[in-house]
Amino acid sequence: MKDRSLPLFYLREFFGLREFYLTGTRDRARSLSLLAEVAARCARCPLGAGRKKNVFGWGNPYARLMLVGEGPGREEDDLGKPFVGKSGALLTRLLSEIGLDRERDVYIANVVKCRPPENRDPSPGEISACFRFLKLQVEIISPDLLLCLGRFSARALLGLPTDDRGSLEPLRGKLHRSALGPGLIATYHPSYVSRNEAKPEVIAAARKDFAFAAAVMGWR
Ligand code: SF4
Repeated sequence: MKDRSLPLFYLREFFGLREFYLTGTRDRARSLSLLAEVAARCARCPLGAGRKKNVFGWGNPYARLMLVGEGPGREEDDLGKPFVGKSGALLTRLLSEIGLDRERDVYIANVVKCRPPENRDPSPGEISACFRFLKLQVEIISPDLLLCLGRFSARALLGLPTDDRGSLEPLRGKLHRSALGPGLIATYHPSYVSRNEAKPEVIAAARKDFAFAAAVMGWR
């Protein structure tokens, strides 16, 4: 299994933390844990002041598939874990339908690690401030494919403006190359799917996107 050293130059450049600079671990779990400690103290954007818990990421540091959502909601903020509650249960189901266990087979993160108040959309400035954490997570985990849950993560990881209110639709159904290197597939945010349970075409479209991701990975 390939492994990569923690990108120390990023850590020095972006965080300036001596303990990071001195830590040349090749252990991805350790690298992520160290980065999560920095994120837990982060005040680079206004969201840090309102968080209960920083929701850094969760899952297998060696996963080939990394899921990226938008930001923590109330339950995630309480627990410090992404995608819990109703949307988390839906995400778990969508993954299991393509044969994946969310604890074992994927790594899950968000574009912003702290909860936007009242669950509003993250602002372009907040996404930009937090992007360095996501960039390092992708660097450390080195996934083959990013499955973006919602338009904010898809647009941020494609290097597109995140203030665009445009539909996710034009981004779906294609294999893109993300700005960070790995391939990228865009699908709906599970909370959107959950809110539209009465519309069978929405869950069908989400299933199609997850099946597409599985096919790209060679799992189907
Ligand atoms: S959202 Fe990201 S950049 Fe903003 S305070 Fe939290 S960890 Fe820092």
